[in-house]
Amino acid sequence: MAILDSLYQELILDHNRRPQNYGRIGDANRHVEGNNPLCGDRLTLWVQLEGDMIKNLSFEGSGCAISRASASLMTSSVKGKSRAEVEALLEQFHKLLNGSLPVSETGTLGKLAAFHGVCQFPARVKCASLSWHALKAALCDTEAVVTTE
Ligand code: ZN
Repeated sequence: MAILDSLYQELILDHNRRPQNYGRIGDANRHVEGNNPLCGDRLTLWVQLEGDMIKNLSFEGSGCAISRASASLMTSSVKGKSRAEVEALLEQFHKLLNGSLPVSETGTLGKLAAFHGVCQFPARVKCASLSWHALKAALCDTEAVVTTE
């Protein structure tokens, strides 16, 4: 996969092979289905929202390595965070994917910065952002279906 040459290949492949927060959690009060028809990525996201905080969340999905690794890293990055913190992170990640985040600011993203190379591959931006679209929807609605198209 040539695209991964410009990504942090190891980290992404590792999260694809052994995704974190994988499998349905029983006490979720939000449930979102996400779909990226361009690549064929599908995911289901469960979120346990308590007040304004994401107490727990998990996903299941099938698709390319980037979409799965992104969902794995997204879930581990936002667990325990407040809605405001998550929205700030979402904005930073979106900037990273469209190439407008200054290199000096990528440190705030931690491991999510592994996706910085994706901005060179517009079609793959949708793979990396699918789980974030789903998360955004989960913060607004209890049940939702999102698509990247
Ligand atoms: Zn994909």
